[in-house]
Amino acid sequence: FILKLQPSLYYSHTLISDIVQPGDTVIDATAGNGHDTKYLSSIVGKNGKVYSFDIQKEAINNTKKLLSENNIIDNVELHNCGHENIHRIVKDKISCAIFNLGYLPGPTTNKTIITHSKTTLPAINDCIKLLKKDGIIILVLYYGHPGGQEEKNDVINFAEKLNQKLFTVLKYQFINQINEPPILIAIQKKKDKI
Ligand code: SAM
Repeated sequence: FILKLQPSLYYSHTLISDIVQPGDTVIDATAGNGHDTKYLSSIVGKNGKVYSFDIQKEAINNTKKLLSENNIIDNVELHNCGHENIHRIVKDKISCAIFNLGYLPGPTTNKTIITHSKTTLPAINDCIKLLKKDGIIILVLYYGHPGGQEEKNDVINFAEKLNQKLFTVLKYQFINQINEPPILIAIQKKKDKI
C-alpha cells in the first residue's frame, strides 16, 4: 500500500466522489474552463442537476465546449452571472458546492478578473443554507495573484469561525512547496436545519 498525497485539485474530486450521489443537485460556483462542472455532471447523472455560474462569457463558452465535446448529458444549467445570484436561482437542497477561487486559467485569459471575498462569502453562506446534512462545500484557494491573499485570508477567517457543533471544517495544503500551493477548505454540514 503506497499512500499518494493528492494535490488540492485532485483531492477536491476525491471528496466529491465520496459525497455526491446520482440524482443529487450540486453547484459549480466558478465554472471557468468547466472541469468541475464536467466531473459533477458525470456523477449526478441523468436524474441529477448541476448549476454552474461564471461572470465571464469566455468561461461559459469554454465550459459549453468541454461539455459538448464529452457528450455530457443534459443535466447542466449554465448561468452567465455571478455566484451571488445562487439564492435566486437554486431552490433545491444540494449535496455539494465547489468554488475554485482566483482567475480563469489559460494563455490568453484576463488575469485581473478574479473572485473577491465580498461576493464569495455571501455565496458560500447561501450554499450553506442550501446544503443537506452531510453535504459539502469545497473551496480551492489560489492566491498567488494580486488580490488573492486578501480573499484567502477572508475565506479562511470565515471558515475557522463556523460552529464546530454544526460543521466539520478541513484545511488541506502542501506546506513545503514554493509558489503558494493551493489550499483546499472543505465544510461539511452535520445537521439538516441550520
Ligand atoms: N473551476 C474552474 C475550472 O475547472 O476550470 C476554474 C475556475 S477559475 C479559478 C475562477 C473563475 O471564477 C473564473 O472563470 C472567473 O471568471 C470566475 N468568477 C469571478 N468572479 C465570479 C463570481 N462573482 N461569480 C462566479 N464566477 C466568478
